[in-house]
Amino acid sequence: ASKTVPDNRVTPMMAQYIEIKAANPDSLLFYRMGDFYELFFEDAEIASQSLGIVLTKRGKHQGQDIPMCGVPVDRADDYLQRLIGLGHRVAVCEQTEDPAEAKKRGAKSVVRRDVVRLVTPGTITEERLLEPGRANYFLAIARRRVSDTQWCYALAAVDISTGHFVLSETDGAGLSAEIARFEPREILVPDVIHDDPELAAFWRETRASITPLSREGLDPASAERRLKEHFGVATLDAFGSFSRAEITAAGSALFYIEKTQIGSRPVLNPPVRDNAGAALAIDSATRANLELTRTLSGERSGSLLATIDCTVTPGGARLLADRLAGPLTHPGLIHDRQDAVASLVENGDLRDRLRRILKRSPDLARALSRLGLGRGGPRDLACVRDGLFAARDLGLELAITPNLPKELSGAAELLQSLRTDVAERLAVALAEDLPLLKRDGGFVRAGFDQSLDELRELQQDSRRFIAALQARYAAETGCRTLRVKHNHMIGYFVEVPQNVGEDLLKEPWKDTFVHRQTMAGAMRFSTLELGELESKIASASDRALRIELGLFDTLAQDLIDLSADIARAAEAIAVVDVTAALADLAVRLDWRRPTIDTGLTFHIRGGRHPVVEAALKREGAAFIANDSNLSGKDAGHILLITGPNMGGKSTYLRQNALIVVLAQMGSFVPAREAHIGIVDRLFSRVGAADDLARGRSTFMVEMVETAAILNQATSRSLVILDEIGRGTATFDGLSIAWAAIEHLHEANRCRALFATHFHELTALADRMPRIANATLKVTEWNGEVVFLHEVVPGAADRSYGLQVARLAGLPLAVVERAKTILSELERSDRESPKRALVDDLPLFAAPVRTQPTQPKRDPLREALDGIDPDQMTPREALEALYRLKAQQ
Ligand code: ADP
Repeated sequence: ASKTVPDNRVTPMMAQYIEIKAANPDSLLFYRMGDFYELFFEDAEIASQSLGIVLTKRGKHQGQDIPMCGVPVDRADDYLQRLIGLGHRVAVCEQTEDPAEAKKRGAKSVVRRDVVRLVTPGTITEERLLEPGRANYFLAIARRRVSDTQWCYALAAVDISTGHFVLSETDGAGLSAEIARFEPREILVPDVIHDDPELAAFWRETRASITPLSREGLDPASAERRLKEHFGVATLDAFGSFSRAEITAAGSALFYIEKTQIGSRPVLNPPVRDNAGAALAIDSATRANLELTRTLSGERSGSLLATIDCTVTPGGARLLADRLAGPLTHPGLIHDRQDAVASLVENGDLRDRLRRILKRSPDLARALSRLGLGRGGPRDLACVRDGLFAARDLGLELAITPNLPKELSGAAELLQSLRTDVAERLAVALAEDLPLLKRDGGFVRAGFDQSLDELRELQQDSRRFIAALQARYAAETGCRTLRVKHNHMIGYFVEVPQNVGEDLLKEPWKDTFVHRQTMAGAMRFSTLELGELESKIASASDRALRIELGLFDTLAQDLIDLSADIARAAEAIAVVDVTAALADLAVRLDWRRPTIDTGLTFHIRGGRHPVVEAALKREGAAFIANDSNLSGKDAGHILLITGPNMGGKSTYLRQNALIVVLAQMGSFVPAREAHIGIVDRLFSRVGAADDLARGRSTFMVEMVETAAILNQATSRSLVILDEIGRGTATFDGLSIAWAAIEHLHEANRCRALFATHFHELTALADRMPRIANATLKVTEWNGEVVFLHEVVPGAADRSYGLQVARLAGLPLAVVERAKTILSELERSDRESPKRALVDDLPLFAAPVRTQPTQPKRDPLREALDGIDPDQMTPREALEALYRLKAQQ
């Protein structure tokens, strides 16, 4: 008996697909078939969902239809970008032999295919997948034990799109700040580190994509071997002295590059050590809160970086972002940068000339990197050419300037020593209009290569010959509308109207004209002469393309041989760009050079918030400048700021932190005058009520972050706390805020700014020597509140909440009603003053409601205590007010 057996035979192609997919289980497999990358099975389902492309099917596997979808090769970049953006990785599988070769092996042979590259968020190089002004780092992490309880972490940060390779070390407490500094797209984490419970929350919350690393890339000996091999050195000493953990991290990074780039070697700069402790530590919460490189909603526009970025080259923009992300702590280095900026502030002519040259300097580093990986095109060659010429001109411009400060003279020296003969050769070699892809040909200028010129001439001649043939055929057949045309199906052919065509099928023409196609109203014929010409032209263009590709490889190789010099030149260009950009900014916005030293001074006159100021300027409004002084001899001072909502507290707090970041990155600052003793760590926290974006209990987050500050801030740190303690019932919040300030004052002894709604806290200034009160000045005009945004000594006398509520458009009836209730509350407060608790402190630990001094039960007060305005909707608040009134 014969049953129908399901067809379990697998086609040779499917067998190949399944094998390759099995080797790349974590990636979507882009399987090259002709002009498409095809995806099959689950990959096809994921891709069609994510990209919104049609899901079809092709053949059967184990009796089931095989789902399939495809993307055209020439538009693959767009699709890659979207898939990478969604957190996928992609394995690109190409045909690695000519299909003709496969045919030779037998009719059923499949074309050989191999994965040539893994595309992951941290290892992309395509211009269209990258943001020009932003580095694209991936990090590799390793660690070593320094004591029973402590680890030291090593980071290797690599940007293969530019060749940057940086090593650094940090302790456990500094790890998240150090990672945040690089803003990596991808982090390579060994399993043991990933599974460390202390770090679990960190991995969960980072924006980077996490790539687990099993033991493979990790062992220190093979890491060292890998490094030596990659850079062709016998010992690593030439690069500096690195710890074993750093070498392991660097080796893991190389391992990952080999794994993803498969056979292609990116041009990497030798690893450089970031001086330990040389960067101002800023943890990720502080970075986010200060909106250094992106706003709280994740955009670049509106961040400090976007506001100060006047660079004109992509490399300059990336260096500026790097400097902003890692301000310095060494006064000497900061002074060097300041000197350079100052010299270009003073010499406006030079600044303008430099910026004019910089404007025609393209993205040298990224073009070079693509060439190094074999992914470059003719336009990348042109890019390096233009970059090298710009570098030369910058060098010349600087060379004729006397008394350059150190940063600029260093750059000048580098730029002048750069060889430009390769660029000159490129200038002669490359045509004016360049195709994107080298395989399109036509990028080599006429006159550069003799045999190429000859072949092109041949092609030209053939075209002339075709024109002549057409004229001859037309004359012979007496058909004036006869045309010689070309298509991919039948090559060159003669096309005539139907009636003429019928004649050509007969004597005496039928020997010359071979019928090929009949169209509506027209007929097509081929001829022997056309056929010969065809193959001549085809072989000429084939040979011409081969010559062009050969020239491309030679020119690219010349550049790659020079890559170390070019990379240094790119760096020097970026330094000049950043310096000129900061000078330009300082001149246009009247920023001043801050005094930087190692004391505990913090004295700013006429400070401004650069981002808020820029926004106000766009609306034609002026920013009110404010002073700050937190200077101390052996401990910092704390400024406690109270004042109405919308008065400008947050703006004031943040502007002081931003001025520190700007000052320590070597920039001038938005202030009339500033004197800052180097800050080692910068902390900034906002109270829970303002922190809407997170899923966790906001109060918990706030407390975790506050704990980090109280545990880590030193006397050299600057701490900025905005509305801490707001996220819980009033008394809890007040007591936490109170204790936190005491701790900052007594234990951390840091410089701090503390904005709060708790007016009770202002009493602290009388008890503690280094605490002062300040408030934002407000005035009333015709019953309306007017914010003057001016910081003055003292405590806020009232909160103006009702006025703000009215400004916000609360119904007048509600505002009036609230006024009545307020005066009622204030009266009862005067009679049984809650403020008394302030005088009882620091015995405040005892719950207020059970204090013996408390008068007998007061239902209204109890009802009030049960109310948390921060947790209520406006409607609930109104209902609560009515309930209170009813109890009166
Ligand atoms: P608060 O934290 O006290 O509620 P903000 O700092 O958020 O107040 O400031 C509210 C608004 O007031 C800002 O959006 C800004 O437009 C304006 N503002 C703040 N500070 C100033 C200033 N120094 N000069 C001019 N306008 C300011």
